[in-house]
Amino acid sequence: MRDTSAQCEQKSTEQTKEIEYSLPSTHKNIALIVAAGRGMRAVQSGHDLPKQYRMIGGKTVLAWTLSAFLDHDRIDGVCVVIHPDDRDLYHQCTEAFTAKLLDPALGGTSRQISVYNGLKALESYQPQNVLIHDAARPFITPNLISDLIETLESEVAVLPGRPVTDTLKRVGDHDRKVSETLPRDGLWQAQTPQCFHYNKILQAHGSAQDKALDHFTDDASIAEWHGLEVYLINGWENNRKLTTADDFTWAEQHLEQNKSMANFSGSFRTGSGFDVHAFTQGDHVILCGVNIPHTQTLKGHSDADVGMHALTDALLGSIGDGDIGTHFPPSDPQWKGAASDVFLKDAIDRINRLGGRIQNIDVTLICEQPKIGPHRAAMRKCLSEIMDLDVSRISIKATTTEQLGFTGRGEGIAAMATASVILPETF
Ligand code: MG
Repeated sequence: MRDTSAQCEQKSTEQTKEIEYSLPSTHKNIALIVAAGRGMRAVQSGHDLPKQYRMIGGKTVLAWTLSAFLDHDRIDGVCVVIHPDDRDLYHQCTEAFTAKLLDPALGGTSRQISVYNGLKALESYQPQNVLIHDAARPFITPNLISDLIETLESEVAVLPGRPVTDTLKRVGDHDRKVSETLPRDGLWQAQTPQCFHYNKILQAHGSAQDKALDHFTDDASIAEWHGLEVYLINGWENNRKLTTADDFTWAEQHLEQNKSMANFSGSFRTGSGFDVHAFTQGDHVILCGVNIPHTQTLKGHSDADVGMHALTDALLGSIGDGDIGTHFPPSDPQWKGAASDVFLKDAIDRINRLGGRIQNIDVTLICEQPKIGPHRAAMRKCLSEIMDLDVSRISIKATTTEQLGFTGRGEGIAAMATASVILPETF
């Protein structure tokens, strides 16, 4: 009779909901959370609590981790391996959690022994699978848990990992001299939860214990040593282990970002635009603000920047405010030969006046000639300056129509554009 959603604050005053949980008769999938470490690096950096009991985003690290497993519908039970000195901390932290939470196991003098103690403590539940997870990886996702459990249907052992992207150096302990650069091909960083058929990993750990081998740094390596085939699936970047002070700063920022997304109450809008201009005699075209020498020019009332016109219409479309012709009638002589950034800036002003923010824009230019590729960077830069939008949010693409139709015959250029905008809810 505990509250599933209650936060693990040290002094939770939230009223518990009257919900009866019926324990499944067999615990098919049990998560074993390893929280017995002392986290000395965090202690040394001025925090006197082991890192799994430190607060991030209003909850302890362990509470975030536990919630991820307890809330998952394919997890039947969760057991935490704790340090014998942390009993009070653990109980304060978990008093609001669900009946899925099993009695804690007590850790030993190393991570390996702690996990073995935890595995032995699960024997009476006869689990089919066990997911062994570091308490200090609080951002494990439900999808990754599901993928791992599914993989255990065909594999005995599976872990998540990320490919190594940095170059690896072997460095002398004392002189810090690089002695070797290691090839990183095929190298992955192991994450948790590392998941196993329960009986197999229990045997592997037992066997390591019998032979007094205690050098293993994770459970997959014990499985490998024991001769089990271990499979690896793609992990998740944010499923990282919180170890250093920088990790905790990152974790706070990550949660803050998630909170602002969750509290976001505006609306997402998209708009699309399309435009065509025909070629006529001339020696250049202007596309997305860039002057490109060419054997012809584009015919139009303004500077005939077909890309910028499509983009302007996309922006106006996102706020349901007509199109370029509504605000700048071609019949009005004052727009003759006008630079098209006037139209684009007007559309941006309209969005700004509504309190909106442009998220990204995507323009496709359709023509056989001129070639767009060499000018793409200049176009993105130009639009970035006019729109005051980071260049990473601006996409310019180009295609031909395989010599079909009016663009294929070189009679003109077409352009299409999409824009996405966030508007406040009051709009
Ligand atoms: Mg036009």
